[in-house]
Amino acid sequence: MVTAHWLFGDQLGPHFLAPGDDGPERGAPVVMIEARSVLRRRRFHRAKAHLVLSAMRHRAAELGDRVRYVRCDTYREGLREAVGDGAVTVHHPTSYAALRLVRSLPAVQVLPARGFLVRQADFRAWADGLGGRRLRQEDFYRRVRRDHGLLMDGDSPAGGRWNHDHDNREPPPAGARSLGAPAPYRPREDGIDDEVRHDLDRWERDGLVEFVGRDGPRRFPASRREALAALRRFVEHRLAGFGPHEDAMLAADPVMSHSLLSSSLNLGLLHPAECVERAEDAWRTGQAPVNSVEGFVRQIAGWREYVWQLYWYFGEEYRSSNALRHRTPLPDWFLDLDADAVTARCLATTLAQVRDSGWTHHIPRLMVLGGYALQHGWDPRAVTDWFHRCFVDGYDWVMLPNVIGMSQYADGGRMTTKPYTSGGAYVHRMSDLCGGCVYAPTERVGARACPYTAGYWAFLDRHRTRFEGNHRMTQAVRGLDRLADLDALLRQERQRGQDAP
Ligand code: FAD
Repeated sequence: MVTAHWLFGDQLGPHFLAPGDDGPERGAPVVMIEARSVLRRRRFHRAKAHLVLSAMRHRAAELGDRVRYVRCDTYREGLREAVGDGAVTVHHPTSYAALRLVRSLPAVQVLPARGFLVRQADFRAWADGLGGRRLRQEDFYRRVRRDHGLLMDGDSPAGGRWNHDHDNREPPPAGARSLGAPAPYRPREDGIDDEVRHDLDRWERDGLVEFVGRDGPRRFPASRREALAALRRFVEHRLAGFGPHEDAMLAADPVMSHSLLSSSLNLGLLHPAECVERAEDAWRTGQAPVNSVEGFVRQIAGWREYVWQLYWYFGEEYRSSNALRHRTPLPDWFLDLDADAVTARCLATTLAQVRDSGWTHHIPRLMVLGGYALQHGWDPRAVTDWFHRCFVDGYDWVMLPNVIGMSQYADGGRMTTKPYTSGGAYVHRMSDLCGGCVYAPTERVGARACPYTAGYWAFLDRHRTRFEGNHRMTQAVRGLDRLADLDALLRQERQRGQDAP
């Protein structure tokens, strides 16, 4: 008898069912479990709950009679209902909790992970072999490029350089309200979405689940067909402009040239290899310049892959890192995505984007949302949970390194050499968000004091002793001594406390 294969809700692409030595048996019947306890445990963004359920149900509809789709309370219950005591295979899940669960079930055989470019054992061997040298994304990324022959001309990087960041950090074009990039792919909802919306309404009405955010028309792909259409549209029409303004922000153009592919990759609807290969083809056929293609390849073969590997390499205790001893709980206005309560234009605009779509690009995540949390000493674990719940692409594996490490510096510098936070000057340079704001990025004290500028100095002052010893922070810390108004600034920040800025 053929052993059944269990698909988690983030293993939805065809590569998770391809038979092979490390795959399910050919023609294996499929089990999918929609466990409501997952939604009950946390207050997710409703658009995220919608997307995940819609994607699972679309996959089940594609698989037809081959799948046993169980709706129940817990995974354990669902598996019992689907196969009784029968054996199943499953690909290595993407979180410690899910891995513990599948390993605790005697009839479940765990197969290697799929959906990434590098095997975990290979990363471990590379990282262990560094012999005390620092782990650096750039080194890992170059290795992936070499090993996979990605964007290479023989032994050299295609286009003559490994790194095109220098060309890819431009502020937005002066005076522009929009980059003017062709619109991204937008899916059309169908009967499955109607059914999902109806279920979510009912569960909310019955008090079984509670959500945050708005569940407007679905913006992100829920099927392989839609994800491929989104990838095609990005590569053919939007990739060429991806690079230069990758780090810029425009209030009226939140997506700019970003790909919006993260949720499709993280649901497993797309494989990273097909994304980077198509991008490379676009460069080789002259459809996109090398800086844009390299920038995109770096995000996927570099950052995404690195973050996945670090999640496992750092171990589960990484979650509890809190090097800066930040313990302040998140205020209600932030937890509720109450953008209307916020006056600072950059934060209000970003929070509204999250409320309305469950997405914003990497710089608002890092410098606006994460930066504010870091400056105000919010508990990094609670910040991680917030990102996980509120973003359509948020999963445990991707959140931990990005939030604990990159954004909150809670790991004390294992992932980045210095904390990512800045005063309002950065936001001003990289966006149009300071225009029309009641606060001024140059003001530290008084009614017009920018919360980011004042927050930055207050943060540096709080951690002065620690950062004095970090050569990348010495200059910044010395700046504190030049502030004649530091006492007034610190008093002001204490008074502002947790109020929405
Ligand atoms: P693009 O800008 O078009 O980039 C292309 C792809 O690169 C993305 O689709 C994504 O798959 C990948 N990528 C780029 N950077 C990263 C990264 N640091 N980690 C993982 N993948 C990356 N990404 C998530 O997928 N899920 C998250 O929950 C998530 N949380 C984040 C939290 C913080 C504080 C920060 C700073 C970054 C986070 N990121 C996360 C990374 C990045 O912000 C998003 O992947 C990106 O904004 C998604 O939009 P996009 O698909 O248009 O990306």
